[in-house]
Amino acid sequence: MAKRDYYEVLGVSKSATAEEIKKAYRKLAIQYHPDKNPDNPEAEEKFKEAAEAYEVLSNPEKRQRYDQFGHQGLGGNGGFGGGGMNMEDIFAQFGDIFGGGGFSSFFGGGGGGRRTKKGTNLRVKLKLNLQEISNGVEKKIKVKRHVVAPGVTFKSCSTCQGTGQVKKVVNTMLGQMVSASTCAVCGGSGQIVDKKPAEADSRGLIIKEEVITINIPGGVAEGMQLSMSGKGNEIPGGIPGDLLIVIEEIEDKTLQRDGNNVIYDLYISFVDAALGASVEVPTIDGRVKIKIDPGTQSGKMLRLKGKGIKDINGYSRGDQLIMVNVWTPTQLSKEEKQTLEALRDSPNFKPDPGKSEKSFFDKMKEFF
Ligand SMILES: [Zn+2]
Repeated sequence: MAKRDYYEVLGVSKSATAEEIKKAYRKLAIQYHPDKNPDNPEAEEKFKEAAEAYEVLSNPEKRQRYDQFGHQGLGGNGGFGGGGMNMEDIFAQFGDIFGGGGFSSFFGGGGGGRRTKKGTNLRVKLKLNLQEISNGVEKKIKVKRHVVAPGVTFKSCSTCQGTGQVKKVVNTMLGQMVSASTCAVCGGSGQIVDKKPAEADSRGLIIKEEVITINIPGGVAEGMQLSMSGKGNEIPGGIPGDLLIVIEEIEDKTLQRDGNNVIYDLYISFVDAALGASVEVPTIDGRVKIKIDPGTQSGKMLRLKGKGIKDINGYSRGDQLIMVNVWTPTQLSKEEKQTLEALRDSPNFKPDPGKSEKSFFDKMKEFF
């Protein structure tokens, strides 16, 4: 199923300000709110879609990644949080949209209790070589996460009566005001540990080592962050945090990445350059033979189409660019010297760069 563009979902332009995005989302959230559209799956879908779009576009880091790489940049289809947001996430998000949890009163009902706590995110670095980056790869990684211990039971927090919030009356210049703050006893979850196994901490959590399989889509880049929702630390009475995977590129000894293209520096002898030759070059997919035409000049660029890196947003691939360097021998035997000496004054050996010979900069312009 094709995902709609987040800007389109919110009906804002790509250059919309944070305030415009918030306003657009607020409008949609009210329009499609489940309380106003009971038993209307279409409205619910729209409600969720808008929430997801807002979740991304309201976060400068996520928005930048989305602008650059589209849905794939957020791991939209590669198994990273592909399921979108659940209702609890959405209601948790309302705190900052409608100001301090005023959302339920906004609709004149419900009455709190919908604020959901989220566990902390886990962040791991993942080193990938050029092949893995290009083709995508499945990796198993070990993570240590906080999980709710088996056998732990919770009871409602008596300090906040299970609401997670404590209200305090404060005297101000304007008179008495009620301020609500997160309950310090339960940390806002509204629940405290009742019974727990000995190895669990005071929150009822244990540290568990888990092996998590992640599917990295082809075309990721250094510093890109993929997130797997719900694979971070668990929290009692809340939803688990996310597992964030930060991509690191292992530098390749022979192939240099330039966007979705890879560049290879090829050195050939001037005999091969003059007579033509068939040489082998490394590519992401293994070694391939290429033909060097007779009379090839140093600095010529050859292109192997589709031998570069897969585009993260689609099925196309970049190219491999081969920069031909003609190697001048640095030491010569007596016989070699004699052979070359005999050719020194040969007319064909005199440099004659005609108009057809483009300078290095002209060639670069042509290629990029
Ligand atoms: Zn409490």
